[in-house]
Amino acid sequence: MGNPAERKPHAVLISYPAQGHINPLFGLAKLLHLRGFRITFVHTEYNSKRLLNSRGLKAFDGSPDFHFETIPDGLPLTDEVVNVTQDSVSLCKSVRENFLLPFREFLARVNDSAIAGHMPLVTCLVSDFSLTFTTQAAQELELPILLFSPASARSLLSILHFRTLADKGLIPLKDESYLTNGYLDTKLDWIPGLKNFRLKDLPHYIRTTKENNFMLEYLIDMADNVLKAPATVINTSEELESEALKALSSMLPSVYPIGPFPSFLNQSPQNHLESLASNLWKEDIECLEWLKSKEPNSVVYVNFGSIIVMSPEKLLEFAWGLANSKRPFLWIIRPDLVIGGSVILSSEFVNEISDRGLIASWCPQEQVLNHPSIGGFLTHCGWNSTIEIICAGVPMVCWPFFVDQPTNCRNICNEWGIGIEFDTDVKRKEVEKHVNELMVGEKGKKMRQKVMQLKKKAEEDTRSGGLSFMNLDKVISEVLFKQN
Ligand code: UDP
Repeated sequence: MGNPAERKPHAVLISYPAQGHINPLFGLAKLLHLRGFRITFVHTEYNSKRLLNSRGLKAFDGSPDFHFETIPDGLPLTDEVVNVTQDSVSLCKSVRENFLLPFREFLARVNDSAIAGHMPLVTCLVSDFSLTFTTQAAQELELPILLFSPASARSLLSILHFRTLADKGLIPLKDESYLTNGYLDTKLDWIPGLKNFRLKDLPHYIRTTKENNFMLEYLIDMADNVLKAPATVINTSEELESEALKALSSMLPSVYPIGPFPSFLNQSPQNHLESLASNLWKEDIECLEWLKSKEPNSVVYVNFGSIIVMSPEKLLEFAWGLANSKRPFLWIIRPDLVIGGSVILSSEFVNEISDRGLIASWCPQEQVLNHPSIGGFLTHCGWNSTIEIICAGVPMVCWPFFVDQPTNCRNICNEWGIGIEFDTDVKRKEVEKHVNELMVGEKGKKMRQKVMQLKKKAEEDTRSGGLSFMNLDKVISEVLFKQN
C-alpha cells in the first residue's frame, strides 16, 4: 500500500438506531476524528431520512474524512418520514435477524472502494454494545473491535448480572404482586460495585413475570457478548463511578472510562465539525433567544428525552405543578410524548404561564443546559442527559421512568447527591414542592455546589493529562490502532 492515505486509521462506527445511543457514539466519532482517524458513521436508512428532514444535507457535510453510510434496518419503510422513535422490541428483533447481512455487504463495499484507491481500508470497528452481530463481522474480517456502552458503568454492571439474578431465581418475578409487595426493595449488596442498590434500581427489564421475556433475553445475550469482547469503552469517569468500574475491570478483558464526552469535546477545537448533527428531531433554536430574556439561574428546564411516553393525565400533573411553582420554565414536549396523540393544554393553563413558560418540541439540549438562565433540570435521568447536566453544572429533580433511568437516578440522588427524586406516581403538589426546593431551597443550593464540583472534575479528567484523556490514548494505542 504505497498511498499515504491508506495508512490512516479508518474506524467504522455503528450505533443502535435510537437517539440516546446515536448521540454519544457520535461524540466518540468526533473525538477519534480529532485524533487523526478517518470516520465512517453508519446510520439506518430510517434515521438518515430523519436527519435529512431535521437538518438538511449539511448534517452530513463536515470534513472529507468524516463520512456517512446507511444500511436498512429491516423494518417496513414508508416514503414519508415518520418523525417518531421506532418501537424498541421490533428494532431489537430486527437487529438480531436482519442487520448482519447488509453490514457485511457494506464493509465489503467500503473495502472494494479502498482497493480501488478511493479511501483507506477499514482498520477497526466501534460498535454499540447492543449490536452483537458486529462481533461476528469483525471476526470474519479479522478487524479489532471496540464495544461502546452508551449506558453508565453501573447500568452495564447490572446487565452483566442479569444471568446470575435469573440463576438465583430472583428474576423474572413470580407474579405481578412482586411489583408492589416490597420485593423490589431487596438489597444487592452481594454484587461488587452495586453497594446500596436494590432490585428496583436496576434497568426496568427485570420487572417482568414472563419466563421468556424477549428483551430480558436480548440483554442477557448482549451481556454474554460484552463479557467476551476484547475491549469496552464507557462514557463515564473514575470520579463518577470508581466502584462500578473496579467491579467491571474484574469481569471484562479491558474496560476504558473515557468520559464525560461533552467536557472532552468542549475542550477540543472542532469548528470544521460543527455542522455535523445527530439530532433526529428538528431543533427549535428560538428557545435560546427566549432564555436570553430571563434572569441568570432562574429557569427550570424540563425534558423527558427521546423515548418516554406518558398519559395525558400525567402530563397535566407536570403542567400544573410547573405553573403553580411560579418559576419560569422551558418545557420540551416531543410530538410523540403523549400516549394517544397530540397534547391539549387548556387556555386556562396557557394564560397562567404566558409570561414565564415556553413549550417547544425539541431543542439543542447541551446549549440549553449551558445557558446562564438555566437554574435546574426536571429530568427523566437518561444517561446522556445525566452526563450533559454534570458537564453543565446544573442540579436536578428526577422522574426516572424505565430502561436504565432508575439506575441513573440512584447515582444522581444517592451516590452524588445532586438530585431530588419524585414519587413514581407524581402529583402536581409534589412537582411544585420539588421544583421550588430545586430552584430556591437549601437543598437546591447544596446540590448546585456538588454538581459544580463534579463539573470541574469532569473538565480536569478530560483535559490533557487527565484520567479519561489518557484512557482515550490508551484505547487507541492498545485496541484501535495498535502499531507493532
Ligand atoms: N436531546 C436533545 N434535545 C431534546 C431532547 C433530547 O438534544 O430536546 C438529546 C440529549 O441532549 C441527549 C439525547 O437527546 O443527548 C437523549 O438521550 P438520553 O440518554 O438523555 O435519553 P433517552 O432519549 O435515551 O431516553
